[in-house]
Order: sequence, then structure tokens, then C-alpha cells
Amino acid sequence: MRIVLVGPPGAGKGTQAAYLARNLSIPHISTGDLFRANISQGTPLGKQAEAYMKAGDLVPDEVTIGMAKARWEQPDASHGFLLDGFPRNLNQAEALDRILKEEGIALDAVLDLEVPEEEVVRRIAGRRTCRNDSSHTFHVEYKKPKADSVCDECGGELYQREDDTEETVRRRLEVYHRETEPIIDYYRAQDLVITISALGPVAEVTERAMDALRARKGAVAE
Ligand code: AMP
Repeated sequence: MRIVLVGPPGAGKGTQAAYLARNLSIPHISTGDLFRANISQGTPLGKQAEAYMKAGDLVPDEVTIGMAKARWEQPDASHGFLLDGFPRNLNQAEALDRILKEEGIALDAVLDLEVPEEEVVRRIAGRRTCRNDSSHTFHVEYKKPKADSVCDECGGELYQREDDTEETVRRRLEVYHRETEPIIDYYRAQDLVITISALGPVAEVTERAMDALRARKGAVAE
């Protein structure tokens, strides 16, 4: 299955993407994670992306589309993939359609995670992320790690992403409404969108998403 995951920052895209990708046996492709890996390795691409990310702005499409394409063209993604954080504007969505068409493939579904705005700010400003695996996330109030700054799942160091401060979260939300939300209508016109609530325990949201994907396709491999 080829799936795009959309939703505001703080909807739990990274966490859900990791579970869904595992359940569906497809790679989880997160452009945010790819950028962060480039930044920590000090690559030229990382240097280009860094200032935009820090400000909560989108990295330019010329950089982003090429990076995403290079990843989904890897052999492990030949039978499907779950895109998390890409596309994030109409131009990227159109480029994705065009490239997939050239490759003779198409998207199967766009999963839209819905969450109220106040909840987003609360979730993100208190979020702590594991340096080893960005799908391991905690919260200073709602999901405290057993030991301060240590990931319960793998022992990695927990940190606050530079773009997870309240000010940057508000900026990211603004960017989401202006740039990313229009892609939902774009995909709705192609009858690809499945909207589910992202509220509640993580496992429940995953189950909700799996049910919705199964109902849609009737052919979801597990
Ligand atoms: P994320 O981890 O998905 O929240 O992404 C973190 C940041 O990476 C975003 O705020 C953007 O600065 C950048 N980024 C991730 N994906 C994209 C994309 N598809 N287009 C442009 N910028 C992106």
C-alpha cells in the first residue's frame, strides 16, 4: 500500500506512522527525520534545511522533493511506503503525483489525523523526543519517562526538538493551515482521503487507522 499521512504538528504522525508501517510491512518515510539525520551528520543538505526547520518554516521544494524521491525509490519501498510529513504543500503533492505516474504507481490512501488546535500546542510544547528513534516520544506531564531525560523504550537520550517550543509550534501551525491543509482538498478530489480522530490512547488511534485502511482497501496485507 502507498499511503500519505497528514495532520497538524502534534497529531502523533511520527508515532502512528511507525506502528502503521510495521503493521503493513512497508517503510516509514519521514522527511522531517531525513532532514534531522542530514543535520546531525552535517551534510550540505542538512545545512540548507537547518535554518528553515529552526524557524518552523518549510524547507524549499527543490531540496525536499529530490530527497523524498530518492528515499521512496529505494528497494525496500518498491511494494509500498508510508509518507509522513510529505507532501506538505500543493506543489509537492502535484510533484508526487507526477513522479509516481512516471513510475507507473499511485497512492492508495491519504490518512488525515484530526486533532483540536489547543491540544496540539499542549502536546508539542511538552514533548520530549528520543535521539535514537523519533517515534519514541514522551511528555513532561502526560507521558513522563521513568527516569528524567532517558527513553523508557531504548535508553536513548530524550531532548526537546528545537522546533518544539511554543512560539515555533504556533508558527508551524500557521504554516500547516496555509500550506498543508489545501492538499487535503486536493486529495479529496481524488477520493483518497480518510479522516480519523487522533485523540485517545496511541493504540486506539492505530486500531482506528488500521480499521479505516482495511475498510478502504479490503486488501491491506498485515
Ligand atoms: P516534522 O518532523 O515532520 O514535524 O518536520 C519538521 C520540519 O522539517 C518541518 O517543520 C519543516 O521545517 C521540515 N520539513 C519536513 N518535511 C517537509 C516537507 N515535506 N517540506 C518542507 N519542509 C519539511
